Order: sequence, then C-alpha cells, then structure tokens
Amino acid sequence: MKLGLILTNDWELFGDGSGDYFEIQHKPLYSLLDCVESHGAKLTVMAEIGQQWGHRSLGEDQPWARDVAENWDQAMRDVIRRQSDVQLHIHIQWLDSVFESEWKLRTNNISIADLSEDRIGCILRFGKTYLDNLLQPVDPEYECIAFRAGAFALQPSRVVVEKLIEAGFLCDTSVTKGLYNENLYDFRSAYSSCIPWEADPEDICTSTSRSSLFEFPIYSYGAVDSAAIRRAFGDWTYYRFTLGAAPSDTDRRWFEEKRRISYERYPKTRHLELLNDNPLRNIKKNRRIPLRWLASKIIGRRPVMLDYDGLHPELFVRCLEKAFSHPHVALYQNTDTVIPIVALGHIKNMHDTGNLSRILELAKARLGDNLTFLKLRDAVRYWKALTAQQTTSQTAKA
Ligand SMILES: [Zn+2]
Repeated sequence: MKLGLILTNDWELFGDGSGDYFEIQHKPLYSLLDCVESHGAKLTVMAEIGQQWGHRSLGEDQPWARDVAENWDQAMRDVIRRQSDVQLHIHIQWLDSVFESEWKLRTNNISIADLSEDRIGCILRFGKTYLDNLLQPVDPEYECIAFRAGAFALQPSRVVVEKLIEAGFLCDTSVTKGLYNENLYDFRSAYSSCIPWEADPEDICTSTSRSSLFEFPIYSYGAVDSAAIRRAFGDWTYYRFTLGAAPSDTDRRWFEEKRRISYERYPKTRHLELLNDNPLRNIKKNRRIPLRWLASKIIGRRPVMLDYDGLHPELFVRCLEKAFSHPHVALYQNTDTVIPIVALGHIKNMHDTGNLSRILELAKARLGDNLTFLKLRDAVRYWKALTAQQTTSQTAKA
C-alpha cells in the first residue's frame, strides 16, 4: 500500500473580487507547475469559474477583461498540455456581480446550497461544459468530473449532491473532517479524514454503498488542540509539543515573508466579515459567550488540514505519516492499493514555491516508495474501479 498525494490548488482571485489576475493567479501558476514537475508530481487546479464568467461577460466591451479571460483559458489549456489536471471550483458570490471601477460581488451569497434547485443544476452543468469544451480539444480524454464548493459551503447537501450526479460529476472534494464554521459548514460527522467514500444522497458527510458520487476529503489530522495555549506560545511552539515538528530558520523566514506579502495583496480590512466565526463579535447582541465555544478554545480537537501553504515541511510530512496508522488506511496494509490523499493550497496565498518545494523533497525522502503522486481525475477513476471490484467480490462471496 502506498499514499497517492493529490496536490489540489484553489485557483482564484480574493473572495471579494480584488487582486491582480496576472500577479496573483496567472504568473504564479506557471511557477507552481515548474515546481511540481521538477519533483515528478502532478497539480490539480481547482479552477474558480465564477470570475471567468464575470470577466467573459465584462470583456464584451472592456478589452482588459477580455484579456484576463483569454489568458485564463490559455493557462488552463497549458495545465492540461503539461499533463496536470483542471477541475471545477465555484464561488457563487460572482453570480450577478457588477464592475464599477472594481468588482462588486454579492458577498452575502456564499453557499451554493442557498441557490434555487434549478440554478444549482444550471451552474454545475455550465461549469462542467465550459471546462470540457475548453480542454477536450487539448486532450480528448479530458473530462471535468470533480467539484469543490467555494468556501467549502454546500450544506445542506441533498440538492447539491443530486445536481452534481445529474450533471455527470463523480466526485466532490469540499469536505474536511472536523472542520466547522457556524455560518458555512459542519464537517464534524464526516465519515473519514483521509479515504474517499460514496456520498449519501441525503448527506455528503455520510458513507453509503448506493451512490455514484464519491467524496474525496481534504486530508486532515485531528490533533489535540488548545487555542488558548497556541495564542500564548504561538502555533509553531505548540506543534513542536504536539507533533514534534519544529520549523527551521528557512521556514520561519518563508512564513514571515508570506504574511508580509499577503497583507500587501489583501489588506486586513478587506477580509470578509462573514468568514469570521468569532462569537466574541456578537457578545453585545447575545450578552453571553457560548460556554462550549469557550471550552473548545481551552482544549479541544482541531483538524490540521494538509495545506501546503499553511504547514511547514516537517509538519506537513508528520501529518502525512499519520495517515498510515489511520484505521481506514490500515485496512489496506499488505495490498498494492494506492490510497488517494488530497492536499490543498491557494495560489493567491503563495508568494513563491519555496515551501512546497521543500515539502515535496522531504516527503519523497521520508516516504520513499510508499509515496506516489496522482491527478484528481485519475484518482477518482481508480477509486471508483477499486470500489466496484470490492463490491463484486463481496457479492460473489455472499
Ligand atoms: Zn475558493
């Protein structure tokens, strides 16, 4: 058994439409492809299509927007030409957006699940068709079969799952076990933190044996957590105690530079209020702090997402190594199964590829033959075939 690492990247502008396309998306994508290829890995671009529709529509009379849209198309063709993958990502705040010297997005609309059934079906079909039409001329084998919801918000998931299946999707990859935000998502009951499952049509977090849609969770490690201690001593010190993973001086410098550039690109004042889940904001309104929330800040469990823009190399690789002892993965020991493991990054947060490069180097050195790299769409087809095979052999035994 080995791990098949899938490097997904949410490829998009900032959530309020700000950011220079060429500076934070286009040029860094080519550096990211160079980096990934130099380590023998593959990239899976989760292409945010709402912004593309916005620029396409504005581009009918604004040449600069047409230029952005055409370069977006070209970049996606290049990704496929270079043997990496492109799948669908949608931030619905781009729908009905307008441009008045800057983009005005409907930032109150975050969850695709809040749209009407018809509209959900429509945008999923349009998104898939757009990518299929764009990319099949480059690779006739190409197909858009996987989806990630903007801000991971797709619950309640019944209609979204139904429409994904109707549109021909085989995979969703929005869930991270343990992740919770009272406004956007609740993945605390998700079936697994690491291996894919057939998603129950009623609830994406539940595993069933009667679904044609697989959930490929973003891998996470459920670490014991104390926000209070992290705040007092800092994240890095905390992880050194809990996971034995200390950053090097190079890592510290890289993360300092990342923080500096991210404030330059996206000033703090622009952060979406909606994404702030801190109940202290509502203290006046509610007059009390929820006790459970407060307790969870002192000691609780928190998923450490396999995020190559957020974890330093030692921490990333420790989390990856933890996958081998997960009960869902251990079932496949002594088989030649490749376990798909989804990692995540955001191009807009990455000022250079230094951290990812060091992660890939360390992961290959430590895991050796127990590590390989997959494109998301290959992994989905592989896992679907494996599941069908298991079902057939179980039926035969019965
Ligand atoms: Zn996104």
